[in-house]
Amino acid sequence: MTHIYDLLIIGGGPVGLFTAYFASMRNADVAIIESLPQVGGQANALFPEKEIYDIGGIPKIKAKQLIQQQLAQLELFQPEIKLSTTVDNIIEQADGNLLVTTNHGELQAKAVIIAIGTGSFAPRKLNNVYDPALEDNGQVTYFVKNLADFADQNVMVAGGGDSAVDWALALENVAQSVTIIHRRDQFRGLESSVQKLRDSTVKIMTPYLLNQVTPAADQLQIDLKKVKTDDHQVVAADKLLINYGFVSDSRLLRQWQLDLAGSKIKVNTKMETNRPKVYAVGDAVTYPGKLDLIAVGYAEAPIAVTTALQTIYPEKIQPLHSTSLFN
Ligand SMILES: Cc1cc2nc3c(=O)[nH]c(=O)nc-3n(C[C@H](O)[C@H](O)[C@H](O)COP(=O)(O)OP(=O)(O)OC[C@H]3O[C@@H](n4cnc5c(N)ncnc54)[C@H](O)[C@@H]3O)c2cc1C
Repeated sequence: MTHIYDLLIIGGGPVGLFTAYFASMRNADVAIIESLPQVGGQANALFPEKEIYDIGGIPKIKAKQLIQQQLAQLELFQPEIKLSTTVDNIIEQADGNLLVTTNHGELQAKAVIIAIGTGSFAPRKLNNVYDPALEDNGQVTYFVKNLADFADQNVMVAGGGDSAVDWALALENVAQSVTIIHRRDQFRGLESSVQKLRDSTVKIMTPYLLNQVTPAADQLQIDLKKVKTDDHQVVAADKLLINYGFVSDSRLLRQWQLDLAGSKIKVNTKMETNRPKVYAVGDAVTYPGKLDLIAVGYAEAPIAVTTALQTIYPEKIQPLHSTSLFN
């Protein structure tokens, strides 16, 4: 029999994670659907090392730490988190439930809360530099899912931001060798991390661009071009990890029959969209006075969950304070 969730939360950014936590506290059967292989939304993908100063009760916290704390908070309930899964559409069914179609099949729920921020993220890919088949066996990759996959390998990391620097340092402990290449002499990563990188055994090659990546026996042959020169260097590596940032895409949203203002979903003060049992929160929404801040999204989450549960379980009294749930 098909499982019917109470709530499906689309998007595992900070607001989606808190929505899932709050819904779990209310005993709802929830799952989060996230298009990336990692949760954390913009905070993890775009500014993991940046300090955040505007969350109530927390003087300052690194973005990636905030996401770790949110995951720790979710541990209590362990809702399902479906990673690498992108929602294509939300379809009303004759029985009143919603069918959520994804790239990995269909799911059903009594209600849906959209927390997709600025749209689905995908790594900024390099065109024409390598055969995409090299991604199939993980020789060229955009994510580190498991550090052990890089054990005893000669790894080249491409990129100059926080992620590239952090991964180069993390891989130094497991890989046989790590080389980082960047098109500028200066790295954009946090100063203390860049200093750690310069003090590490990671080989730094700047200013170089990836020119051509070709398979050679079990390895990759990576042709690097020195910026603004005709100089080339060919380096062998077992794996290439590319970290050139992310691009977001809000085109899917346009197929979901929602009232939009630009690329934002219009909601009322109960976080209701124009569609029955479809609610939205976080950076994805707009209303008069809306601010794209995590604190604002956190405030919208309990409103959306409460409205959704009142709609799908009108007979249930919804408690207001968490103490009445844990006692
Ligand atoms: C550089 C920078 C600095 C910032 N600094 C601060 C700050 O100091 N304080 C602050 O409060 N805010 C800050 N913000 C804003 C903050 O990041 C956003 O308000 C917050 O991330 C919104 O969270 P969200 O969960 O609504 O959306 P997002 O963080 O955008 O997460 C949405 C998630 O949904 C997923 N998704 C999208 N479409 C689909 C789909 N179709 N199917 C499945 N999954 C999907 C995405 O992959 C993503 O993981 C900053 C933003 C940037 C860019």
